Amino acid sequence: DVPSLSPTRRSCGVMVLVNPQSGRGQAMALYNTHIQRMLTEAGVPHTLVVTERQNHARELVRSADLSQWDAVIILSGDGLLFEVVNGLMERPDWEQAIRTPLGILPGGSGNALAASLHFYSGASPVWGEDLLTSCGFLLCKALLSCQVSGLDLVSIRLSSGARLFSFLSLAWGFVADVDIESEQFRQIGAIRFILGTLLRLASLRVYRGRLAYLPAGDSEKGDDLTTDHLVAPLDEPVPQGWTCVDEQEFVLVLAMFQSHLSEDFHVSPDARNDDGLIHLYYVSAGVSRAALLRVFRAMQTGSNLHGACTHLKYVRAQALRLEPLCTDGMMTVDGERVESAVVQAQVHRAAARIVR
Ligand code: ADP
Ligand code: MG
Repeated sequence: DVPSLSPTRRSCGVMVLVNPQSGRGQAMALYNTHIQRMLTEAGVPHTLVVTERQNHARELVRSADLSQWDAVIILSGDGLLFEVVNGLMERPDWEQAIRTPLGILPGGSGNALAASLHFYSGASPVWGEDLLTSCGFLLCKALLSCQVSGLDLVSIRLSSGARLFSFLSLAWGFVADVDIESEQFRQIGAIRFILGTLLRLASLRVYRGRLAYLPAGDSEKGDDLTTDHLVAPLDEPVPQGWTCVDEQEFVLVLAMFQSHLSEDFHVSPDARNDDGLIHLYYVSAGVSRAALLRVFRAMQTGSNLHGACTHLKYVRAQALRLEPLCTDGMMTVDGERVESAVVQAQVHRAAARIVR
């Protein structure tokens, strides 16, 4: 018998959410050929739920009886987990709901969290279907021994007033443009980010804006998600103790909450799922294409970016405010497009839970 992650109640095992449209549209085939067999062999009771449209998973977890499930497992890209996390946070009982153990298996084209967790596990790096089977093995092992660890959530306040919860990244400029522009190459899988990067390098742009951040200090685990106590209202200056970067033209601003931006882009080797840190990178205008290419190549190998290029800055932060002062240039949260306008973010250490 499988020990339940919540031993106080009867369990139906795990819910497995699959987005059949993610990646190259092969997630169902991947489930059938690998994951179902692994869960069955491991003796993990599971129920398959195939999403029918965008926001289906979000609505489902908003109203589901979560007490039935030991964990909610997502076989898709990061986009489906983003829906699940934000759906859980929209519930009246969100404080309890967000403690539901979540699991992620790489079935999309952007599998950044799965690649990050796989990296933290110490397993040798693999890609594509090998990454899926390796993650599947690690997940089954963790489910059988009830291993759950904290997952940082970053609360992101948009200028519209909307509040989103992110586990991966906030990007503006180059990286966000690549993410959205390369969606048209979804059929080629994770390689789309490399192709998109090369295309965007060929027509390099700059983006005027302002950036300020609160340098990292002590953070508590499982802190309160109710309010973002570190940030000031948007119509007020940033609080004392924040660092203001001079208004300037940027090539990119990238706030990373995990190690990987995609299977191929290992941006932040020091990041961990519950480090309570925003790993903030920004590149100022004036950088040469060659230098920028070196930065992206360093990311592909996971080597240290410090000193890779004089235009690249890296700081560890707990909160930030980013204010675009130009109309072009996209902004993304966990790879999903949001309005490109002033945003604030604050990390909440280990606010969610991930099976690993
Ligand atoms: P990928 O990494 O390939 O982009 P994602 O998991 O990020 O895969 O999913 C991409 C988008 O598809 C997400 O915005 C998600 O909300 C949406 N989605 C989920 N289920 C479906 C579906 N059945 N049909 C179409 N889109 C869906
Ligand atoms: Mg996606």
